[in-house]
Amino acid sequence: TRRKLIAGNWKMNETVPEAVVLAQEISNLMERDWLEMVDVAVCPPFVDLKPVKTVLEFDRVDIALGAQNVYWEPAGAFTGEISIPMIKEIGCTFCIVGHSERRNLFGETNEDVNRKARALIEAGIAPIVCVGESLSVRDEGAYLDYVTAQVRAAFAGIDGDDARTTVVAYEPVWAIGTGRTATPEQAEEVCAAIRACLADLYDEATAAAMRILYGGSMNEGNAALLLAEADIDGGLIGGAALKAGSFIEIVKAAL
Ligand code: 13P
Repeated sequence: TRRKLIAGNWKMNETVPEAVVLAQEISNLMERDWLEMVDVAVCPPFVDLKPVKTVLEFDRVDIALGAQNVYWEPAGAFTGEISIPMIKEIGCTFCIVGHSERRNLFGETNEDVNRKARALIEAGIAPIVCVGESLSVRDEGAYLDYVTAQVRAAFAGIDGDDARTTVVAYEPVWAIGTGRTATPEQAEEVCAAIRACLADLYDEATAAAMRILYGGSMNEGNAALLLAEADIDGGLIGGAALKAGSFIEIVKAAL
């Protein structure tokens, strides 16, 4: 059975002092034995990674660290970019790739997402590959084809053994930051389609081993029902991950 993963995507929030406070609050509220049953990760902005890691290490709390983005080249003349060796050295074990904000605001393509995922896997960091349709795609009705096409593109050239360690996050764009959460049935429909797509790309056993998260206005009020669905293996949390108490309640809902 798949262990649930609750990951906080802090997006472009928290200066270093603020990030240290938030990490400390999360650590203080986290019962250590929960972490034997559920995986928890925080994904702060790049500048906060090291300070947050220092807090987690000092507290010896087994909360994983993830980056929100990365560039696929290991080093060189790529002004403004951050490399995989950089985030690995700090201790990141996850990295979000292809978040809809990166696709829509910063022009990331399916091909970029695939390059990033392949480079991360090569370095031993688990990608959290984000997929999800806009409201117009949903209203047109072709959202399952749209999302599974994103999945196929993201996993191009990745073999089954590597795919197993990769996480997929289904984040319908219309549910992100809008307070309009997908219903558990809507989220499950797409997560099940993603798993079927992975079974088609690889095999049933590989698809059954892979974690598929839901993201989009998940909070302490709706997490339990979403997490109860058969193909939803956790959450990628935005706004509610910035409040330690809310984030902890979502972790508890995953136990
Ligand atoms: P919200 O939880 O703020 O809707 O954000 C979801 C998200 O985009 C997580 O990556």
